[in-house]
Amino acid sequence: MKHSISKIIITAIIGLSVIAPIATFATYYTNSQDEKSTNFEMNILKTIDDENMYKHIKSLSKTPRVAGTEQEDAAVDYIKKQFDSYGYKTEVQTFTFNDYTAPHTIELTLDGFLHIVDPSALEYSVSGHVVGEVVVGGLGKANELQHLDLTGKIVLLKRGDISFKEKMLNAANKGAVGVIYYNNAPGMIMGSLGEANHSFIPAVLLTQAEGEKMVKQVNKNPDTQASLTIEGAKSNTNKSHNVIATKKPSNLNSKTKAKHDIIVIGAHHDSVANAPGANDNASGTAMTLELARVFKTIPSDTEIRFITFGAEELGLIGSNHYVNQLSPNEIDRMVANFNLDMVGSKDAGKLILQTMDDKPNLVTELTQVASTKLNGEPTPVNQGDSSDHVPFAKAGIPAALFIHNPAEPWYHKPEDKIDKISKAKLQDVAEIVTLAIMNQTRVEHYAK
Ligand SMILES: [Zn+2]
Repeated sequence: MKHSISKIIITAIIGLSVIAPIATFATYYTNSQDEKSTNFEMNILKTIDDENMYKHIKSLSKTPRVAGTEQEDAAVDYIKKQFDSYGYKTEVQTFTFNDYTAPHTIELTLDGFLHIVDPSALEYSVSGHVVGEVVVGGLGKANELQHLDLTGKIVLLKRGDISFKEKMLNAANKGAVGVIYYNNAPGMIMGSLGEANHSFIPAVLLTQAEGEKMVKQVNKNPDTQASLTIEGAKSNTNKSHNVIATKKPSNLNSKTKAKHDIIVIGAHHDSVANAPGANDNASGTAMTLELARVFKTIPSDTEIRFITFGAEELGLIGSNHYVNQLSPNEIDRMVANFNLDMVGSKDAGKLILQTMDDKPNLVTELTQVASTKLNGEPTPVNQGDSSDHVPFAKAGIPAALFIHNPAEPWYHKPEDKIDKISKAKLQDVAEIVTLAIMNQTRVEHYAK
């Protein structure tokens, strides 16, 4: 953990210590302030409104919100409008990503080869129709291909040692027009070339058994011709967005400026295709909005950034982009990331926290103190690394995912609609997060 837990520090009545002996005062002071503190916190929690969250989810989940689509843009507009209406100056941070459409047609034939094969495309396989002599190229390492004439030929390559992409570029450099990969272990895998590249040539992937039969065939008949067709594969550069509202500390001066802690409350706003994503993750988005509204008026010594991320479902792209553009100084001051993802389903289990390394950190500790105070038991923690807390954790920032477990049966399905949302669950998680953050943030309410 990078920073230790700091308790609420009260500055207003320090003057009393002149009259009271220190030890006695300490006890008196703590009890009295604990009580005031609790009242203050409970009054803040009362201002969290599940109806607001429900309304946001209803608006956001009318359609799916796939990253890079008009529907995502509409969601981004909606989110920005809400943040703005609470008095924030909202930033829309745009980033690009590779959007790959898988092929609808894949055909591979080999002269004289009687076995039936079922080739699959790799992610980022390009479309094309190529015909040529088949050459066995081992693992496709540069030194293996060095003395082969691959011009206009299709190369048969085994998986292993180097990436599919590296093998392909080695073959393409030698003039090959197509690649047939085969697995180096039983069973099928989902292959990926990692990214789009202008030098790519059409390629397919076979099982180990299919590939080995083909190698035998080609070794027996060195002039064997193959025909490879891939249709419908497309790779585009697309745009998605993060939406950021920042609450600055209330009493900045030249000394404290750029030195205060930063907390990030975040949730992804995109969904998968064909799922309106009421719970995944209009729920976390709505909660981020409601917390931004509630925290706007609470003075604190900590900066709080409320962020909704794009393109989470495509591989945490928005949160990775966000963390990558932070300065070392910002990363150093970032003490916590609360990641809200699927926090309101009627049909899911209880609230849990997930950390990337399965270890407790500042976020889980603060949350457990809060959940014990509110519900009588600490929220359990386990391992999980498939949401937007991961880029933060990798940067060394204490981060945790808030999610109900087990997940609802509607996860990533068209049924993930507003009628599956529980207002009570939304209210519960929002209160826990709010209390956890108030316990970390030095609130100045006693000064009044
Ligand atoms: Zn999600």
